[in-house]
Amino acid sequence: MRLWQRSMIALARSRAVTEFMHGSRVVRPFSRRLVGGGNAAEAIETAQELAQRSIATSLFFLGEYVDSEELVRENVEALLQAVPAMAKAGLPLHVSVDPTQIGSMLSWSLCRENAFCIARAVADAAAAHPLAQARTPGPALMLDMEDASVNRETLALYHDLRQEGLPAAVTIQSYLHRSMDDLKELAAGGAFVRLVKGAFAESPAIAHTVRSARDASYKTAVNLLFAPESRENGVYPALGTHDHAMIAYAAEVAAKNGWRRDQWEIEMLYGVRPAYQRRLVDEGFCLRLYLPFGRSWWPYSIRRIGETPRNLAFVLRAAVGA
Ligand code: FAD
Repeated sequence: MRLWQRSMIALARSRAVTEFMHGSRVVRPFSRRLVGGGNAAEAIETAQELAQRSIATSLFFLGEYVDSEELVRENVEALLQAVPAMAKAGLPLHVSVDPTQIGSMLSWSLCRENAFCIARAVADAAAAHPLAQARTPGPALMLDMEDASVNRETLALYHDLRQEGLPAAVTIQSYLHRSMDDLKELAAGGAFVRLVKGAFAESPAIAHTVRSARDASYKTAVNLLFAPESRENGVYPALGTHDHAMIAYAAEVAAKNGWRRDQWEIEMLYGVRPAYQRRLVDEGFCLRLYLPFGRSWWPYSIRRIGETPRNLAFVLRAAVGA
């Protein structure tokens, strides 16, 4: 599985493959299922349709692994335009960002500068449009967590944004051995944390690589996030998973420890397990979908195939028109 994941991540990072795939038709039907729109206006329309079904969203502009200043600028511009448009449409403000799309491959200081700029735009748009901050947990710039080489910098960036009073949230990968210590610190500070299993092919020296150990580490992290003290500290847990066993486990721990359903949420990717998503909403859970938009769909789509090889079958079926 790690070899498969590593290969898919290499394909996502290859500029030549990306250019080729953007010009080909093969994977496009699959990506259409996962992408909420070609531009911000289309994505906001999709987000409004989802809001009518009581599903919140986090906008994500497609454009990871960017190593040119021009593309970084384009990514940041796209987000700076999408944020006020989202607020104006009356949608709760939540955007997700990968460090590699806002400059971390060029320099960490550029990435920081851009993250501050986007977080300020989120805060300003929320202040100008009260509806945009209506729903718990309030407006947020969610920092996605990429591979372990940028883990420390991403966490430091989160803490710096919070120190400036900006609306930041951060993703923690339960598979990393260091994550329990990171989570303890975040829980003590009342953070908005998205808990995921982790999507990169990390070495066993720093991460759990066997499925059973990864699932066990997720449950340990759930216990910490949903402890009664975490709620008292103001923690807002977001479970970034499609795994019904993890969600059922967390729901049980949450209920046992006195968490109301509106004090935490489940986050899933747009287009993944839609029937299950509908069921969760019908059962009264808060659900947010990670909603990618833009034209650079290849790196995002191939990473999803890396996470779930079954998605490859979907692509092949689409390619032969089956
Ligand atoms: P799994 O055990 O992998 O899957 C459970 C079941 O869900 C599977 O049986 C399968 O049927 C289904 N499923 C899972 N994923 C898919 C898929 N892509 N397509 C179709 N079916 C699927 N990882 C990071 O490292 N950093 C991040 O910042 C990050 N952000 C994320 C944000 C969100 C909102 C989500 C949902 C995930 C994010 N991830 C991130 C990915 C995460 O780490 C996992 O790799 C991914 O969610 C797959 O694991 P799972 O918990 O869903 O469980």
